[in-house]
Amino acid sequence: MTVIRGATTIANDSADEIRSAVAELLAQIESRNSLKRDEVLSIVFSSTSDIHSFYPAKAAREAGFASCSLFSAQEPEIEGGLALCIRVMLFVEKNISPHHVYLRGARILRKDLAQKFNIAIDGPAGSGKSTIAKLLANDYQILYLDTGAMYRACALAANRAGVDVEDAGQVCDLMRELQLSVVYRDGVQHTMLGGEDVSALLRTPEVSMAASTISRHACVRKKMVEKQREIAGKMSCVLDGRDIGTFVLPDADFKFFLTASPDVRARRRYDELTARGEQVDFEALKAEIAARDRQDSTREFAPLRQAEDAILVDTSDMTVDQVLETLKRKMQEKI
Ligand code: C5P
Repeated sequence: MTVIRGATTIANDSADEIRSAVAELLAQIESRNSLKRDEVLSIVFSSTSDIHSFYPAKAAREAGFASCSLFSAQEPEIEGGLALCIRVMLFVEKNISPHHVYLRGARILRKDLAQKFNIAIDGPAGSGKSTIAKLLANDYQILYLDTGAMYRACALAANRAGVDVEDAGQVCDLMRELQLSVVYRDGVQHTMLGGEDVSALLRTPEVSMAASTISRHACVRKKMVEKQREIAGKMSCVLDGRDIGTFVLPDADFKFFLTASPDVRARRRYDELTARGEQVDFEALKAEIAARDRQDSTREFAPLRQAEDAILVDTSDMTVDQVLETLKRKMQEKI
């Protein structure tokens, strides 16, 4: 069973307002959690003591929740509490990671769910950043921006144009012309060069190494960081990379630095690549990751580094679920 929470507010204590606010809240909870009506066992409402004109439970019945049990209670008056607020708990007959829904004036009750916020996750290759970033984005229903894919696309463009990624002059000329964009379809990032979706071409070891080299150049970083800040400025998102907490978003609401032992990181990448049917040599992969780490952490401009206010999580001996829970708990503690 899962419990899903939510809350909303009304402007006036009137039956019509309560009906429409409850209908809106329940509809959003249903759609964000892909619920079917017969999966809802029971709904419990509580409303602040300034709401009298109508029972939220009756509003739910009128909104079509015909078979589940319904209950409404009134809260005692709490000084300084939110006025004209209806809270809800849905008990649901399936095990899901719930999306709680806070609407209208109740948004302030759950800063993490309702206001715009950014999560920065930095760390070396294979530390688990992208896996965790995707899960967090899904849990909080926010955007995941894979900044590594952007540097990888720069490297691919350079390789295609015969540009030497070591040569700042050639690279910066290429950058002036480069049409790189990031679009989202069904919540999944697609990295585009001009009109071409290059997402599937970015994960090879050659592109990885070239991305690490090309991303040393300030002209590359400036162009990518501008785009990253533009996206993060508009909406809540989780960004993973090397310099998010230190340089791209020094004021990010939540900052994490994930790490793991070199062996564990190489093993994860190896498993990821072989699962995709790619032939890789473990020792060569380990050497490539070490070379990238070295290059990424010693470059002059925005190197890989833990921000002073970032929380360090060593994921070497943790399962994905444990890392996810740790990050969510740390975020909840900070709110
Ligand atoms: O994270 P990913 O392995 O996809 O990144 C590829 C390369 O892009 C990294 O090795 C790093 O050199 C560069 N990068 C960066 N800054 C970021 C993200 C990635 O320099 N924010």
